[in-house]
Amino acid sequence: MPGGVSSPVRAFGAVGGTPPFIRKGSGAYIEDVDGRRYIDLVMSWGPLILGHSHPEVAEAVRAQVALGASFGAPSEPELALAETICRLVPSVERVRLVSSGTEAVMSAARLARAATGRRRLLKFAGGYHGHYDPMLEQGGSGLATLGLEARSVETAVAPYNDLAAAEEVLAGGDVAAVFVEPIAANMGVVAPAPGFLEGLRAACDESGTLLVFDEVITGFRVALGGAQERFGIRPDLTVLGKIIGGGLPVGAYGGRDDLMRLVAPEGPVYQAGTLAGNPIACAAGLATLRVLERDPPYARLEAAAERLAEGLHDLPVAVSRSASLLTVFFADQVPVNYEGARRSDLEAFGRLHGAMLADGVYLPPSQFEAWFLSTAHDGEVLDSLERALAANLERIIAAR
Ligand code: PLP
Repeated sequence: MPGGVSSPVRAFGAVGGTPPFIRKGSGAYIEDVDGRRYIDLVMSWGPLILGHSHPEVAEAVRAQVALGASFGAPSEPELALAETICRLVPSVERVRLVSSGTEAVMSAARLARAATGRRRLLKFAGGYHGHYDPMLEQGGSGLATLGLEARSVETAVAPYNDLAAAEEVLAGGDVAAVFVEPIAANMGVVAPAPGFLEGLRAACDESGTLLVFDEVITGFRVALGGAQERFGIRPDLTVLGKIIGGGLPVGAYGGRDDLMRLVAPEGPVYQAGTLAGNPIACAAGLATLRVLERDPPYARLEAAAERLAEGLHDLPVAVSRSASLLTVFFADQVPVNYEGARRSDLEAFGRLHGAMLADGVYLPPSQFEAWFLSTAHDGEVLDSLERALAANLERIIAAR
């Protein structure tokens, strides 16, 4: 296995040290193969908004396993998940289920190109949209690259929060779609500046470009209807993943009815998958969305993130927070784009990561990632977290 892992960031290359191998998770905690317990702030990189092994999600999986793992034919869980997504995500009128966020992005790009007859795509520096080739231009998630000399000539890149730069690209009239994380969370958390997303919407309308919100992280994380509900902006297409699979592999793309009708078999834009709409994954996602709808946790999650940020108020670090997503940067200022995020002291972050791990807290092993909370991160967990964080930060800052 390259790097001993199935996905690069897990190898701890950005922070040093050796990753623990995880055997199980429960609530806000994970436990490694040596029996050490950690408060988890990775939460499988976002899907586990209800914590590890939530009883309702686990039961839904058990029940579906008993009925069969996969049929490659229409089934009830996929229909129920699709209906729930269309009901809750404001701009999604029709949806296609796939197996990962990457696949959803790739499929949305194909659809946007077919619908507009244009090939170019615009993304933002430090934005991560999975490992589809054109989306690895100045990819976030630390060091996502194509690994080839060749670059994607079809991808234009603008700095995040720089509306004028995006408008200039779009004025050319040859861009099929703008892909944007409505809250950037793969260069560490970077909030959209007031007017940025609204401006993109207007510039897309003017230039005949489709606006695609990549809500793989923000979907069902910052509101039931995602960032588009929170900010009141209607993208043409939306890409989802993570939470809609409740910890199992699911992605989705959806949006305007007229666009989605172009997807096969209704239209000519081919896209398919052996395990797409997998019943076990859809059952897990559906169970998660049911809990979120019954008892929306968004105010509580946001209060928890705010509390963590407040707790670090007197320390010379920049806590970047949007909704319940946050990242601690070793910088003077909260970054507004990738360039700003990269000014953080990465060595200091590596030291923090190692110290927190030794104290039983599993932070994302890279500066350029969001810290994820769940409904299982209760007052007691937050107390421990806050204590460990403040003590380690003070020590690391004093030694700099
Ligand atoms: N888009 C965003 C915003 C992401 O954060 C990610 C993954 O972290 C993806 C797309 C890709 O999703 P996946 O890893 O499921 O392919």
